[in-house]
Amino acid sequence: MKNMAVIGAGTMGNGIAHSFAQSGYRVNLIDIDEIALNKALQTISKNLDRMLEKGVISNDQKTSTIKNITTYTDINKGVENTSLVVEAATENEAVKIEIFKILDETSPKNTILATNTSSISITKIAAATKRPGKVIGMHFMNPVPIMPLVEIISGYNTDKSVTDFIVKLTKEIGKTPVLANDYPGFIANRILMPMINEAIEALQCGVSGVLEIDSIMKLGMAHPMGPLELADFIGLDVCLSILEVMFKGFKNPKYAPNPLLVNMVKAGNLGKKSGEGFYNYAKENKAIVPANRFIKI
Ligand code: NAD
Repeated sequence: MKNMAVIGAGTMGNGIAHSFAQSGYRVNLIDIDEIALNKALQTISKNLDRMLEKGVISNDQKTSTIKNITTYTDINKGVENTSLVVEAATENEAVKIEIFKILDETSPKNTILATNTSSISITKIAAATKRPGKVIGMHFMNPVPIMPLVEIISGYNTDKSVTDFIVKLTKEIGKTPVLANDYPGFIANRILMPMINEAIEALQCGVSGVLEIDSIMKLGMAHPMGPLELADFIGLDVCLSILEVMFKGFKNPKYAPNPLLVNMVKAGNLGKKSGEGFYNYAKENKAIVPANRFIKI
């Protein structure tokens, strides 16, 4: 099984394609947005250069990794010969369900359909297909080529043999699988997102500024990134979507997204990918966005 496809070539899709291609898979990388595909190829090339400089890979490995990736803008053309598809499109339930309905029609009957969703029900996505036993969550971490963890989420109907297979495959591409069951946010985001939301709440209430909040968590709790910097890195739209899924799923106000986060997403300030979130990324060294950008009075 060496042919696979990745749907979505954004922050996560390019990293997932990179990791499989580096492990010898022929990867069809599919996105409706041609600009996203071009950007993804540039990012993969840049990340491979960095690995080459550090001596992690050879020149031949860089060349073969790039050669293993083919891009498509049509989901109907890139999945017909695959044994695995990993969907990493926008974190939106309706979008994912539509994609899985198409994948169910266009991919071979035995193909495993995995989703990289951060929070949406695997069981619900699986129910949109005629092969719920072959649908599973493969939640990679950002940045994918560097982060070892893959959270593997079994839906209510996922076949045990499929989970076992995906665990084995995850190890084969050099990652560490950890199993979770299908509840909103699974493990990673159920714990991470309330922390990020609380950091935004602390900023919004005027407890302290962006740098102070991030410094406390970096210097005091040994986190490599502060929660606001991490939120920018993940994408504020992605953070908002995950919190909304958990809020709706648990019906518990502790998951309610902070209104500042909601406003920033409405404004299109999505973090690193849009150029500004809690930090400004226009310059080489990111700058802190002044507090009066968040609190107007
Ligand atoms: P992103 O916004 O960077 O990229 C999403 C891509 O999906 C875009 O390029 C978009 O054009 C494409 N897309 C949208 N609809 C499509 C369709 N119908 N067919 C094909 N492509 C389509 O998002 P992202 O941050 O890469 O997130 C992707 C998934 O990974 C989400 O489910 C998210 O929750 C999950 N995830 C994100 C992170 C993170 O740190 N950003 C971490 C783990 C998991």
